[in-house]
Amino acid sequence: MERCPTCKARLKSAVICPRCQTDLNRVFKINERAEFLCQYAIARLEQQNIKPAVWAIKEALLLQRNKLVLATQQFIVKRLEQQAVANLTHNKQALAIETLELSLSLKKTPFALALHEFIKQQDSETHTKECLAENIGLL
Ligand SMILES: [Zn+2]
Repeated sequence: MERCPTCKARLKSAVICPRCQTDLNRVFKINERAEFLCQYAIARLEQQNIKPAVWAIKEALLLQRNKLVLATQQFIVKRLEQQAVANLTHNKQALAIETLELSLSLKKTPFALALHEFIKQQDSETHTKECLAENIGLL
């Protein structure tokens, strides 16, 4: 961090802002926590552990919306979209929908919205009402 979040004064390594006296320790701790959550999210994603990854990046976004957090969010959204497409090519519609909805809960990209719409449409054409209701129940 180069500037005080309160008064925008340039900072060196002060714990208390020399201009407005803001306690920067708390700010540093929030930054650290956000960074940790981003690393945690990426690690879970690498293990195909999608739900904890999505949880962690949401927590990070609540704390901080800095470049690292936003880039991590972007990365996870892209990966989930790719995963949904892969699920679909393997005829795993329900899994594709589940993955897409996790992705949409992070960011509503036009691509994810269109793909979601497309799968839902296909679903209603090929399945009975009971089967569809079951799929919705899974979500
Ligand atoms: Zn300040």
